[in-house]
Amino acid sequence: MTQKIEFIDLKAQYRALKDAIDARIHKVLNHGQYIMGPEVRELEERLEDYTGAKHCITVASGTEALLISLMALGIGPGDEVITTPFTFVATAEVIVLLGAVPVFVDIEPDTCNIDASKIEAAITPKTKAIMPVSLYGQPADMDEINAIAERYGLPVIEDAAQSFGATYKGKKSCNLSTIGCTSFFPSKPLGCYGDGGAIFTTDDVLAKACREIRVHGQKRRYYHTRIGVGGRMDTLQCAIVLAKLERFDWEIEQRMKLGARYNQLLDKHGYQRVKQRNDRTSVFAQYTVFVENRDAIAKQLNEQGIPTAVHYPVPLNRQPAYKDICHGTVTAVAERVAKQVMSLPMGPDLAESDQQRIVAALSEAVKIGGF
Ligand SMILES: *Cc1c(COP(=O)(O)O)cnc(C)c1O
Repeated sequence: MTQKIEFIDLKAQYRALKDAIDARIHKVLNHGQYIMGPEVRELEERLEDYTGAKHCITVASGTEALLISLMALGIGPGDEVITTPFTFVATAEVIVLLGAVPVFVDIEPDTCNIDASKIEAAITPKTKAIMPVSLYGQPADMDEINAIAERYGLPVIEDAAQSFGATYKGKKSCNLSTIGCTSFFPSKPLGCYGDGGAIFTTDDVLAKACREIRVHGQKRRYYHTRIGVGGRMDTLQCAIVLAKLERFDWEIEQRMKLGARYNQLLDKHGYQRVKQRNDRTSVFAQYTVFVENRDAIAKQLNEQGIPTAVHYPVPLNRQPAYKDICHGTVTAVAERVAKQVMSLPMGPDLAESDQQRIVAALSEAVKIGGF
């Protein structure tokens, strides 16, 4: 009973895909086109088909995807971008890097996604984009957000770093707005073995801009028509994602099955958890519950070989580097849930027996802590 459960079991995934991954890697080593080799475009085409977006542009990371998207939209000093404070720091970091200001709108207490009903009040003449995050793998209220954006002529960038494979009203995440950005960080639902990411859009002009910005803003070799970055994704990493696509549909099914089982087991005990809406799916990049006395509960679970994590302990408007930039904005819901959220082990290779062990251990732990 004391065997350690992995928070996300990437080694089991590698064992299952070893032949395909090794073959793909060796193919690249043999053709030797390490930068912008044929696997780059091959992956982009596969992901265009998968998401339904007309264009996919692979880039060096999820952060780079967000940065390049904002650059393609021409966002710069003095502009405001509306986003959520309850996310990984990269979402807001890229806004600040460009000299723009993140305007934080509070979240819904049950999904932890941006509260669409509070967005309109945050729009000013300086607002240049809305950037919702599909947190924990579940898209936000994209119809409502797109409708507000359309009324004000604003683009919407979905930070889909955690939600590749999820759907919203039958459409795939990454293809729900002007631009969708995802990450292939190893622990994301679709990961590589290093850093990687992708931008999705159906807008030809934006796609062309993103492709140029990815390679130092060059229109053709050594002819630079824009300010760009070194933002390409390695051929090797593209090859690894291609191999991982072989069982990706199965992985999504597993994630949804395990997510539904967690829901069922926790609801039976009346425990509080992140909720999913009926008109969309989550790929459960994280499976997250709300607890009181989080430190004590996490400690007890850890002693039984069950790792947990906190996504995220401090809203971005409270972070030392950000609090002056956003003039002390208060987001009460984000503030509260940041103290309560705790993510449990999750991943396509999580065994049902381990899942039962996790819930049983959690039940024991909350007796001392409380939900
Ligand atoms: C992981 C993540 C990113 C950044 O992706 P990287 O590939 O690590 O740069 C951005 N936004 C969110 C919400 C993320 O979870």
